[in-house]
Amino acid sequence: MTEHHSKLDSPAIFCLDIFLISVACSLIGCDKPRPTAETTPNHDEAWWSYPEEIESIVPGDDPLYLVVDKGHQLPADYVPADLVTITPDIIETNKEIQVVSILLEPLRKLNAKAQADGINLSVISGYRSYQYQVKTYQHWITYNKGDRDAADRVSARPGHSEHQLGTVVDFSTDEINHTIGDAFHRTKACAWLLENAPSFGFSLSYPKGKEHETRYSHEGWHWRFLGFRAVAL
Ligand SMILES: [Zn+2]
Repeated sequence: MTEHHSKLDSPAIFCLDIFLISVACSLIGCDKPRPTAETTPNHDEAWWSYPEEIESIVPGDDPLYLVVDKGHQLPADYVPADLVTITPDIIETNKEIQVVSILLEPLRKLNAKAQADGINLSVISGYRSYQYQVKTYQHWITYNKGDRDAADRVSARPGHSEHQLGTVVDFSTDEINHTIGDAFHRTKACAWLLENAPSFGFSLSYPKGKEHETRYSHEGWHWRFLGFRAVAL
């Protein structure tokens, strides 16, 4: 384990200028941007595996651009500052869900656009503590009858989940009764998010066909808020 301040370059100005984002999207394509670690994927090893050396993240104050993946682990006691509960006027949720407050306005605007387009979105997961992720990962171990490889394809081990940053949401829709899973990939909501979510500063963390880079199965529901940088990565 090595100490490493794993942080992407901070932008001088944080900006959510929808027009500029839309222009940038049209230039570079927005369905794939995500924070990436400076590692070259090794196609000889199982794509869902963890690297031999895992770096301990020193979080600092701003969780927005921290790289959290299978090679970078958050401390067990890391909790982002400024967590707030998503209220129904922002977007529908299936339980009490918290995110970092900077996400509320982009989420509200994204949902308003979705509603105007006839898409009924909900948020079914947001901030998850290290301890919650312990249970989540164990659930997938049990679900897969002890097969750790199977669990690693779909779930992060504790400290390796972007959800611990508070800057990530899992979306669902009434098309699949606000559940999660592969059925989401066949919904209008999934297609709508691919088309529209980047314009609101959200980036798909685990795109289809990028498993060797992300080390996770495709998750069309898992969107990380990056703000303006969402289009520049
Ligand atoms: Zn997720």
